[in-house]
Amino acid sequence: MTPEPFLVRLPKDADLMESLMAVCREKGLTCAAIQMVGALRKASLSFYSQDDRKYLPKLLNEPLEILSGLGNLSLKAGRPFIHLHLTLADKDCRAFGGHAQPGCVIFAGEAFITPLPGQSLTRVFDDPTGLFLWEQ
Ligand code: ZN
Repeated sequence: MTPEPFLVRLPKDADLMESLMAVCREKGLTCAAIQMVGALRKASLSFYSQDDRKYLPKLLNEPLEILSGLGNLSLKAGRPFIHLHLTLADKDCRAFGGHAQPGCVIFAGEAFITPLPGQSLTRVFDDPTGLFLWEQ
């Protein structure tokens, strides 16, 4: 049976990436599209420096709205792996964002997950970018 897309509420005070991973693990997913809205108590983002080929961390220790979370679930080294980007807003409605890292603490979270059981994508190291991208 094909798994249906579903909505899920994420728990307050939990780590965002861990919570999404737990939901995907519980459903036995290995490939999916992820969308979400909500709010964070604090955020841990990064920006991939294309010149330095490394992620530059950015910690935001303040309440933030999640205007948009967009990502996917695929396999990396044989294990499910979530890649998620967040657009956030502060109390003055200024928006910014980046690559989500562990350390984003949920205030409220509503995720929409679309399982893609017909697909299997595996991340492998891509030398031209220095990133783990989908195998072609
Ligand atoms: Zn990213």
